[in-house]
Amino acid sequence: MKHDHKTGLTENDFRESFSKVKLTSNEINLLKILYESPNHKATGIKLMEILNKNHPGGINLTFARIAKKISKVTNVYPSSKRENGNYRWWSLLAIGGEEGKYFTWELKPEFVGALEKEKILNQKIKFKLEEVFPVIRAIIRNLNLSKIWVDRDEIATELKKDKFIQEKYLNGVTDINWISGNMVDWFSASITRESIIVQEYLLEFERRKIEKPNINGRNRKIWAYRIKNVLLPEEVEEIDIKHIEGKVSTVLVNRYERDSEARLKCIRHFKPTCQVCGFNFRDKFGELGKDFIHVHHLKEISSIGEEYEVNPIEDLIPVCPNCHAMLHKKKPAFTIEELREIMKTEQNKAYNGHFS
Ligand SMILES: [Zn+2]
Ligand SMILES: [Zn+2]
Repeated sequence: MKHDHKTGLTENDFRESFSKVKLTSNEINLLKILYESPNHKATGIKLMEILNKNHPGGINLTFARIAKKISKVTNVYPSSKRENGNYRWWSLLAIGGEEGKYFTWELKPEFVGALEKEKILNQKIKFKLEEVFPVIRAIIRNLNLSKIWVDRDEIATELKKDKFIQEKYLNGVTDINWISGNMVDWFSASITRESIIVQEYLLEFERRKIEKPNINGRNRKIWAYRIKNVLLPEEVEEIDIKHIEGKVSTVLVNRYERDSEARLKCIRHFKPTCQVCGFNFRDKFGELGKDFIHVHHLKEISSIGEEYEVNPIEDLIPVCPNCHAMLHKKKPAFTIEELREIMKTEQNKAYNGHFS
């Protein structure tokens, strides 16, 4: 059974009305989901599921709000009323139907035509990139302290909790999930385009695609970010040697990844402080020196087999470039203890010199 309550509104009428009404992101989102459904038709249950709502009332209300806006500018009202005398607002835009025990909405063809021609569903929510992106940057930096990759969904979740974003962009908005997600997607798109506004982030972050299910359990690929850990020339050398040792070229990328993740874990464990002499670049150079340190591989490269998995705490150790260079003065390299001992001996000599 279909309930097509005709009103006489044509595609052109709808198109004209779009120049006068302003739809919210929430309203556009509902239309988008319906539009993208097979035959532009979906059950209320399905819409609730996709929009993450637990009551169909919200969807009905959103539908009504869109219809009211259009009625107001066209002066055409729904041709169907409920028993209580209220308009069936949805009937201005959709054909009602039943699928089993579920009610369905199907967008009217003339309404669909207008949506397409006026590109209503391509509208983006408006926010100032220069306000939102620094918040995203801070979120990645912060989450990166406790986990290696920070993905799009995790950033969006933090955005929703951010006081500034809440007050400026999310107040009174129903679909904050969609907006916060959209903000992160916009950030990612800007990185892809290497927009001016994200120039400095390009240097700061690296990213990769990861697979993750959305709220409906469907897997999709999303971006994950982390602070770039610049590999220093000497470390690259060490890693390259290991790659040659590994022999199988297809595992090179994985090994490299594992190495840079191990490096981060190592630095987090020991702090970016030289474990031989105690030098810390941040103490000396402030922001400029933040997180700068070399990581020395304690295991001899030649002793590493193909199945070797680096242990970030036992096999790696942060050292300053000076101490790193001294460690490699001998082959195989000095141990950390040996180098500390040499330093201590020299220091003692210097002190003794004062008193003798
Ligand atoms: Zn040092
Ligand atoms: Zn080294």
